[in-house]
Amino acid sequence: MNILLVYPEFPDTFWSFKHALKFIRKRAGAPPLGLLTVAAMLPKSWNLRLIDLNIEKLKQDDLDWANYVMISAMIVQRDSATQLVERCKKAGVKMIAGGPLFTMEYSHFPDIDYFVLNEAELTLPPFLEDLEKGCARRIYRSAKFPDIRQTPMPLWHLAKLKYYVTVSVQFSRGCPFGCDFCNVTSLLGHRPRTKSADQMIGELDSLYQAGWRGGVFFVDDNFICNKQQLKTQLLPALINWRKDKTGMPFNTEVSINLADDPELVNLMTEAGFDTIFVGIETPNEDSLAECNKSQNRGRDLLDSVRFLHESGLQVQGGFIVGFDSDTPDIFDQQISFIQKSGIVTAMVGLLQAPTGTRLFERMEKEGRLVTHDMSGSNTDGSTNIIPKMGLDKLLEGYHQLLRQIYSPKYYYARVLTFLRQCPLPKIKYHLDFQYFLALWRSIIRLGLLGAERLQFWKMFFWTLLRRPRLFPLAITLSIYGYHFRKIAYSVAR
Ligand code: SF4
Repeated sequence: MNILLVYPEFPDTFWSFKHALKFIRKRAGAPPLGLLTVAAMLPKSWNLRLIDLNIEKLKQDDLDWANYVMISAMIVQRDSATQLVERCKKAGVKMIAGGPLFTMEYSHFPDIDYFVLNEAELTLPPFLEDLEKGCARRIYRSAKFPDIRQTPMPLWHLAKLKYYVTVSVQFSRGCPFGCDFCNVTSLLGHRPRTKSADQMIGELDSLYQAGWRGGVFFVDDNFICNKQQLKTQLLPALINWRKDKTGMPFNTEVSINLADDPELVNLMTEAGFDTIFVGIETPNEDSLAECNKSQNRGRDLLDSVRFLHESGLQVQGGFIVGFDSDTPDIFDQQISFIQKSGIVTAMVGLLQAPTGTRLFERMEKEGRLVTHDMSGSNTDGSTNIIPKMGLDKLLEGYHQLLRQIYSPKYYYARVLTFLRQCPLPKIKYHLDFQYFLALWRSIIRLGLLGAERLQFWKMFFWTLLRRPRLFPLAITLSIYGYHFRKIAYSVAR
């Protein structure tokens, strides 16, 4: 049996880093973890090939070779997935689809032959069994949540790792919190499930043995969902594993209450974590109460961010405007917070209501739901609800906010605030040819040709003279800034 695993293309979004990739010889962010994991669950005798449309083209020969095409996609990949389905249909090859896009929108894809939805650990085995017997149903779903200690190691060898900036792994699924706009708990549950420390070490070791030295993204919904297990098992194991290694810095997603636990923060930085994404959402207490963001309430959010920065964890922040409780000055409040915090990577989006969330139910009840479909991009200025302040007012404030925080003056001010707070790195970075290429291209594109020339050179020399060991990070952030500005300015024309 020949199986072609195909990953649709990402559009040009905040997290695609497409404009930043031009500075290095890389083609995409990370290989498709879901497909590589599903590949490991297929019968060993099957022949497997992976085509990631983010790094290569799909050829007719590939389709001719395949008995089945397996597609996995997120909502943001909808357009490319739709084109792919059309192409497979034309080629007469049967399709099997799974992942978040199809789990939420399978009814929009009548041409797909089989859907293996929700978590594949539960739905793939019965599908494979039925397929073998020749009696496969069209849809396989499950309301249960599997034990991921049984999940096999992703088949990294199927991916052309040299074309990626980072690699994704996953330690846990689910989140104990209940933010009303978030569909993580309806898709993956409230009770966090984790892999074992041995599984994670095995996955990281196989990557290291394969020569991987770039970043590793733990794509957990909330990495600190089981603090005890992290402190007693995973993090000590990672610290031990890292002793004789260079490179492979880790980043992940956490809730802000990490700042209340200095012991956990210290273990994470010792283990090699240097960047975390945190859903800050808003400095407006009423809006935090409205969306049930209990972990963010009643705390000095600026203080929490400063503590994390000073401990060696760069905070990337998620922010939302458009809550019912937002007052007209919310845009200025957000700008002021983001600037003071030194959060360089600030992803600001409009409030949206994904299906399966409490916000979705409320909006439907109040007759404020415009569509069930969302774009899947957090920063394209789209929303599927009618905001209380009115869409025009919301968009006007949002565009102004984006233009301001990603203007060179504001962006580089945050970079300098962060570099002043940030301690020297604990892990040994692997500076290879890519880094020197990025340095050279940043000098040309940003220092000589860019609108940010002045701010770039100020940061360049400040870092070289005051914090030289942070220089590679400073150059990376200046390149990210170029990408974010392109995205922000394209949304807020
Ligand atoms: S903390 Fe994050 S993952 Fe958890 S429910 Fe809230 S938004 Fe979702």
